[in-house]
Amino acid sequence: MVIAASTGGTISITTIPAPTESALLTVAHTGTGSRVIIESGLSTTPGTGTVTSIPTTTATGPGRNGAVSGGATIIPTTEALRSVFSGLQSGVRLPQTVLFPPERIHLNWTQQFKVGAGLENVGNTCYLNSALQCLTYTPPFANYMLSQEHSATCKKLGFCMMCTMQAHISKVFKRSGDTISPVEVLAVLNLIANHFHHGRQEDAHEFLQCTLEAMQESCLAESKFDRETQETTFIHQVFGGQLRSRIKCLNCQAVSDTFETFLNILLEIKTVSDVSTALEQFVRPEILGGPDAYSCSSCKKMVTAIKSLTIHRSTNVLTLVLKRFDICAGEKINKDVRYPEYLDLYPFMSETQEKPLVYRLYAVLVHYGRSSHSGHYFCYIKASDGQWYRMNDNSVIITDIQSVLAKQAYVLFYIK
Ligand SMILES: [Zn+2]
Ligand SMILES: [Zn+2]
Repeated sequence: MVIAASTGGTISITTIPAPTESALLTVAHTGTGSRVIIESGLSTTPGTGTVTSIPTTTATGPGRNGAVSGGATIIPTTEALRSVFSGLQSGVRLPQTVLFPPERIHLNWTQQFKVGAGLENVGNTCYLNSALQCLTYTPPFANYMLSQEHSATCKKLGFCMMCTMQAHISKVFKRSGDTISPVEVLAVLNLIANHFHHGRQEDAHEFLQCTLEAMQESCLAESKFDRETQETTFIHQVFGGQLRSRIKCLNCQAVSDTFETFLNILLEIKTVSDVSTALEQFVRPEILGGPDAYSCSSCKKMVTAIKSLTIHRSTNVLTLVLKRFDICAGEKINKDVRYPEYLDLYPFMSETQEKPLVYRLYAVLVHYGRSSHSGHYFCYIKASDGQWYRMNDNSVIITDIQSVLAKQAYVLFYIK
């Protein structure tokens, strides 16, 4: 075990806890004496994949459990380390294999293309056209699709949404300046969303979600993988992140973490006027008490607890969906919600993340009208030449960032 100590701020400890895993422990201390918080990030041995972090474990008191003396030297004891690694074992599990190595994701365009073709509206297909255009201008997604690597290595039997998207995106860039019909996607619409009907206006976000799920299935190609491995596909490496839900017992201070993968984040907008406030609201801690009291497995009591949600593993592509459609009321929230070109996600993350964590806007999907099943969808995208365009079915028009930021967005696409 190697311990690196310092006199203030963050202290790093590197240790090899088990033959199959190597871990990086970060020990941060608050104040000057009595409390040490041990956090750890885990990286697997080369070739077995990546797990970025595990739950935080708290060790307290001078002289025991990772003692601190005057904020200067931290010597974690076996007991403290054991508590960290028991959290490690119950918290985040390692994938058995990595289906798509994250280092193969290119977040910037690897080639410059003229802006692609417009998409013909084939009877209320603006929801589909606008979602497809946003995906088409997602650089890591387009880079991979245009390399044709997927079809060359595809193992999916029968219908494959990755092959379908590859054919569509390739055609979009081949037919720059033209209008094409999204026939490949329309032909498989009932396979990816069997409740959708040709000729009927559908929800663009729902279509997007169904498309991502179908592509995820293609990446898995009928094989059986453990859940952690399923989250290492190309689709998860581009769009996927992880949320941490933490419940802290206010009686015994025990902490319980659960982790959940996401491909997009849905934000409530009823009471906010900008996206950062919506994200603040998303991570605002909630008290569980009274009728919602929490059953603590540590002190075995019904207790008051604090529940907090944070983004634990950041995504490469961050898709934020503004909840404009109130299913119960059946009404759309038609209000301006401001969004920045550059968004710092750091304030909404679990504590072990880089700072700042800046994302850049590259596509905005807009809806005009009263409900998700009526009105009109179109979008704004940033092409590989850095120019913004408005994509409104077959119309492709140059625009600028000021116009893009002035819209009533429905879905926002950011990239690291
Ligand atoms: Zn395929
Ligand atoms: Zn408790």
